[in-house]
Amino acid sequence: MEKQSTWSKFLTLLFPPHCVICFSCRVHGDLFSFLCARCFLKIRQNKNPLRLLKPFDRVLVYGPYADPTLKALIFQFKFRFVKELSHPLGELLIASLNEGGIETFVSLQKPVVTFVPLAPLRVRWRGFNQSQLLAHAVASYFHLPCLPLLERSWLAPSQAKLKDEVARANNIKGAFSLSAPESRAPQKVLLIDDVLTSGSTLKEAGRVLKKWGVKELWGATVAG
Ligand SMILES: [Zn+2]
Repeated sequence: MEKQSTWSKFLTLLFPPHCVICFSCRVHGDLFSFLCARCFLKIRQNKNPLRLLKPFDRVLVYGPYADPTLKALIFQFKFRFVKELSHPLGELLIASLNEGGIETFVSLQKPVVTFVPLAPLRVRWRGFNQSQLLAHAVASYFHLPCLPLLERSWLAPSQAKLKDEVARANNIKGAFSLSAPESRAPQKVLLIDDVLTSGSTLKEAGRVLKKWGVKELWGATVAG
């Protein structure tokens, strides 16, 4: 096992991977594997990262989904399964939370970081839950606990295929349940997801958490 990882490290050193965005430069000694620093710095930030979304106390969205670099990065992460991209994308969430006042949110009482769950079949298909990886990156940076508070109850048709806002809201209704309904709700929760589109997924997940008894609820997504 150890031998193999040394071997793969050696190969990476000899043939560093190309940046998944520009394909032109090899990522070697860069900040992240699979993404060059030049492309990372190109990602645009939302002028106003705040979104009003009930029942959240605050929702922060780092950048516009229309940003070509950000969109391509999320595509590579979710549909080309480049797991390592959770690092640069996690950095964007961390930046947005730092600027959005997380310091006051984490003071006195630490929030639990959680993520929007995927249907088990989808996790099996992708091999990971992208939001869970992002939540882990955020939690470890701020030294917060990361727990799977929610479960996806059934395989709903993908939200991405539904353009209509009402259809999206109906599709997601009842999709989430608590992982441990018998336990006491944490006072504060920070819910992480990758992309905010109509907001119906985040809203529904937030509704379940608030109903459980979460007092202060924040949400953060990379794009929207
Ligand atoms: Zn690049």
